[in-house]
Amino acid sequence: MNTNLDKKEMDRGETDRRTRGIERVVVPQVVLEGAGVKLKRSIATRELDYVDPFLLFDHFGSDNPAEYLAGFPMHPHRGIETVTYMLAGVVRHKDSIGNAGTIGAGDVQWMTSGRGIMHEEMPGPVDGKMAGFQLWVNLPARLKMSPPRYQEIAAGEVPVVEHANGVRVRVVAGTVNGTRGPVTEIAADPVYLDVTVPANQSFAHPVERGHSAFAYVFEGRGLFGKSLQGEGQAVGHPRLLVFADGDRVEVETAAEPVRFLLVSGKPLNEPIARYGPFVMNTREEIQQALRDLRNGTFVR
Ligand code: FE
Repeated sequence: MNTNLDKKEMDRGETDRRTRGIERVVVPQVVLEGAGVKLKRSIATRELDYVDPFLLFDHFGSDNPAEYLAGFPMHPHRGIETVTYMLAGVVRHKDSIGNAGTIGAGDVQWMTSGRGIMHEEMPGPVDGKMAGFQLWVNLPARLKMSPPRYQEIAAGEVPVVEHANGVRVRVVAGTVNGTRGPVTEIAADPVYLDVTVPANQSFAHPVERGHSAFAYVFEGRGLFGKSLQGEGQAVGHPRLLVFADGDRVEVETAAEPVRFLLVSGKPLNEPIARYGPFVMNTREEIQQALRDLRNGTFVR
């Protein structure tokens, strides 16, 4: 028995609370998607297949419209949810359940494909800029063939929590100091925060033990994962960090501020069969999706 450690833990006054260390740091890969959109992919690569329940994470954005104007013409999805969060510019969209519109800076689109949706996503610049993120969240087997659903949240409906030390958190999903984000009723019980920490400050956020968690650093630099168990790691943009298990995520800054997304969710621990825009549990279900598409029975 290690009484030293026991005493150290007691002295912390909150016996069991553990800051999450860093399991891995991922360098985003440049990929071409859709009709020729250049983007940085950190999940769904040869290096990192998925972080259950998260299946894909893309960071798009460029000052050169030639790198994105071809967009993502009509394409299907089945078995997943896609979350688009914009920083700049716009994405014009329309889909097979009758939604059409434009999302812009600070807006969020949370699309549940369920058994099938067809949609189009076409990026465009505002003042020469276009940038944002797309995350794919897996659906549990029991909801993969559920009716499609769509939530669009305007920037003004995303609450901002300002801490006394200047930390600023936009709460898309989850709760920060009692402020709850507008995206709810999602199977993975997700947290999705856009966090800005000024220079020489710190931020901590509780994350449910057993849930997967990652941070995507897209501006500046921060020291993540510092705890009694480890020194932590200084990480500059653009990088994705996958956290080990624990009770909270912590970050400190030095001379440079940092801005990152903090995302967590409940792992499904179910088999994954994926093929492009379809993510099911078995190969047979993927074959069925392709048959439905061929036979014109994909969208009902
Ligand atoms: Fe899509």
